[in-house]
Formats: sequence, structure tokens, C-alpha cells
Amino acid sequence: MLKIDILKKVIKTSVYLSVIALMLGNNFSDAHEIYNHGYIGRPQFDILEAGFSLFDSSGKCKYYFNDVHFHPKNFIMRGDSLSKIYVDSEKNCVKKVLLNSLPPLEHWEGTTQTRPTYYTHHKSKFYSNSVSDIPTFEEYRKLSNAEKSKFIFLLNGFLHFDMSSIDAVKSTLTIYKDLPIVGFGEIFGEHYIMSDQMNPPSKIDSRAMDQIYELAGKNKMVVMIHNNLSNRSFKGATPTIYRKDTENVLKRHRNTKFILPHAGVMRNIVIEDLTSVIADMLNRNKNLYIDLSFILLENYIMPKVQVESEWVELIKKYPDRFMIGTDYLGSYGDFYEIKKFIPLLDALDVVTANKLASGNFEALIQARSYLGKYYVW
Ligand SMILES: [Zn+2]
Ligand SMILES: [Zn+2]
Repeated sequence: MLKIDILKKVIKTSVYLSVIALMLGNNFSDAHEIYNHGYIGRPQFDILEAGFSLFDSSGKCKYYFNDVHFHPKNFIMRGDSLSKIYVDSEKNCVKKVLLNSLPPLEHWEGTTQTRPTYYTHHKSKFYSNSVSDIPTFEEYRKLSNAEKSKFIFLLNGFLHFDMSSIDAVKSTLTIYKDLPIVGFGEIFGEHYIMSDQMNPPSKIDSRAMDQIYELAGKNKMVVMIHNNLSNRSFKGATPTIYRKDTENVLKRHRNTKFILPHAGVMRNIVIEDLTSVIADMLNRNKNLYIDLSFILLENYIMPKVQVESEWVELIKKYPDRFMIGTDYLGSYGDFYEIKKFIPLLDALDVVTANKLASGNFEALIQARSYLGKYYVW
């Protein structure tokens, strides 16, 4: 009797799971159809199968990249060693890697068997880890000079909501003045999922962060601010309701240069005519730069494998303002290879392509590199 009861329960559970799977499946397929620049959740084409090559016929790198968006450790502070990242970046024709740590640390209450490691995992919650930079900084100090020449840093391990953090930031910069730290970030503001998982939530437009932006400006440092343009949507385009938060910060701190990563979108952020929005933001804010990291390429720039001409025109119109980043977490894995950018670079003239691949980032950090270990408080 007991066995029959268990069997009934198993069947009932399977039915529920199947129904849920069907509902989810429908949701995804609807989302596919709603808008060709919208949510995909996975690349519409297989980058590895697409056969883009990093190398020319003589086996040399076609382009050299600076990867402006790489997290050396994931949301549970795990990642490859910097020596391994060095080797893998060389294989990918990457000259310099801008490392930025992730202060949101994923909470594991122990109620689940497996440890959650990403914000899309069931019931994820995060708290702020104010020493997220330190393991990587210490590891860097032990590298060979050749390895060291690969890495540059943004500082991010401080409490973004706390007015007192400015003192901790100054201490860290003083202790690690031998490191090439060129700015701050990636500061999380509006994030389509994590905004509800962080406590307290992270905001880019706050008095606490104003102090950091001011310090950055005084010291010719850059700030990477992740602030989505809108909420996530499964039903078509939504208005850019968070654009004003980003522009408030840009306006208040004209002497500070900011990078808006992945052009203010992520999975499920569906913006009508994103190129016009970005063009307008770049036009109004001379201190704004854009990185083309994460799923921006698959979802917006090349949703049908061919490069959309509106993006080529946008980059040509603002040739000094775009940069390439991967937004990898802890590793140069096989999934999103930097070679996915090759068709976009090939669609540009060679001067603009090289600016996008590497030159713009070098120009952006030049002033700070020149100042070296000297800071003005
Ligand atoms: Zn981001
Ligand atoms: Zn990121």
C-alpha cells in the first residue's frame, strides 16, 4: 500500500513538473517571437560553430583585444588562477585584461544540497563582501613581471551604500599603491534580478557613491556603472525608465569618465531602438563610454548572425566611445569566446576596428597610468 502511495506521489509530481516545463517552454518560445532584439536567454547561433577565426591565413592575430570587463572570481569567489587567465588570454589575442571583482557574495543557507553560484539559481540571495578585491590583489603581487603586464584593476570591494566607505577606499588604494588600479566598478545599480536579491540594494545614484565618483574624477580614474535601462520583459519593448539615474550621475560628475557595460541591457531587457537611445546618451554625455560585453552582441548587434548595420553606423559615428569586454566570471571558458566580435570588427574600417578592439581603452586609462601610484584625496 505504501509503495502504491509513493508511486502515486511520483506520478503526480512528474505531471506537475511536466506542466511547469511546458509553461516555461511556452514562455521562452513566446519571448523568441516577440521582438528580434529581445530575450533569447541563449545565443541564437552557436558562436563556436559559426567558425569565426581570431587568426589570419599566416596564423597571426587579426586583431589584438583589450578585455575591459572580466571578473576574476564568480559570485562565490571562485575562479582560475591569474597565471591560467594569462595563458588563456594570450590564446585569445587579448593584450590586457581589466579585472573587476564582484562584491555581491551568494548566500548559501544550507537548505539546498547544491551551493547556488549564480543569481539565476533558485532563491538566490546576496550580501556585500567588502574584501572581494583582496585575494586577486595579493595573487597579482606574486606574479612574474610578464604576467603582471597583462592585468589592470578596477577597485570594487567596498560597501557601495555607505558614506564611510570613502575612507576604506582610500586605505585600500594606499596599501595597494603598487598595483595598476585605474578606477572603480563594476558598481551594480539597477539589475534585472539582483536588485531584489541584494540587501541593502545597490544604487548608482547616491551620496555614498558621489564621493567615489568625485575621487575618481580627481585622480583621472574611470568608473564602470551597471545600470539597466529598463526592467525585464517577456512581452516586448519597455520604456527606458532607469536611464535618468545613469544620466543624473553622468551630469553631476562631468570630470569623471564612466563606462556603461553591455549598453545598459541584459537578458530580457527589451529596448526599442537601442542604438538611438545610446547615440542620444553619448551625444548628451561626453564622459560616457560603452562596453559591448555579455549578451549584447547576440541579442542586439548580431541577432541573426549578420551584423546589424545600425550598430556599424553607431560605432562609426562615435568611434572613440566603444570598447570590447567579455564579462566572463573567473575563466576564459569555451562558451563565449572573444572571437565572436570578429564579424563586427570586420564590418568596420581598420582604424575604427582597432580603436574598438584595443585603442579606446588605452586612451581612456592613459592619464591614470601616467599618474601611477600618486593619488589626490
Ligand atoms: Zn554588468
Ligand atoms: Zn560584469
